[in-house]
Amino acid sequence: MMQVLPIQASATTKQCPSTGGLIILTGPSGVGKGTLMRSLLQRHPELYYSVSATTRSPRPGEIDGKNYYFISRSQFEKLIAEGEFLEWAEFAGNYYGTLREAVLKQIHSGKLVMLEIELEGARQIRASFANAKSIFILPPSFKELEKRIRDRAQDSEEAIVRRLRRAQEEIQAADEFNIQIVNDDLETALNDIEAALFAQAS
Ligand code: 5GP
Repeated sequence: MMQVLPIQASATTKQCPSTGGLIILTGPSGVGKGTLMRSLLQRHPELYYSVSATTRSPRPGEIDGKNYYFISRSQFEKLIAEGEFLEWAEFAGNYYGTLREAVLKQIHSGKLVMLEIELEGARQIRASFANAKSIFILPPSFKELEKRIRDRAQDSEEAIVRRLRRAQEEIQAADEFNIQIVNDDLETALNDIEAALFAQAS
């Protein structure tokens, strides 16, 4: 039986199991994983968000240490060699990775850790953490996904094309994950994620 945390949340907020573990949120670039994750963390401040390292340049408004740890390729490769990543992958020309120590420390202290990562990294985590709960976020349609990526207007045309090509491959892998949720309406998708994650605790 799973235990629940002491009640601190409002009556409408579901409680999280207190046993530490990993939750993977994956899905193609532009599908809205970041927005869903931020909203989920607002509703569940007891969840721990793992800040990834990346070699991508910061976008306007992104803060080092909050959105990502922005590091150079040589720094990233040194961390790979030292075994500092729980998983890492190359995505659209840049490295992205989850830092091992911070995540394991949180899991061991009983926290639920959220990873917002792409397909290859999600596969690596699933291979090493059989109990990780994995959620794949799908767009309502590929056309809508392309629109979202283009409307974001933060990437070059070359990067957009790479992300779209990769998105097609990622969507085909949706069935590998425990739960698939379509992000058409944000509130509905959030409720679906909560229901999937916290069903045992309510
Ligand atoms: P973006 O450049 O749009 O912030 O992220 C590109 C992709 O990399 C997204 O699908 C995002 O979820 C993924 N990503 C972010 N952090 C990590 C990470 O630590 N590991 C892996 N494998 N993917 C990540």
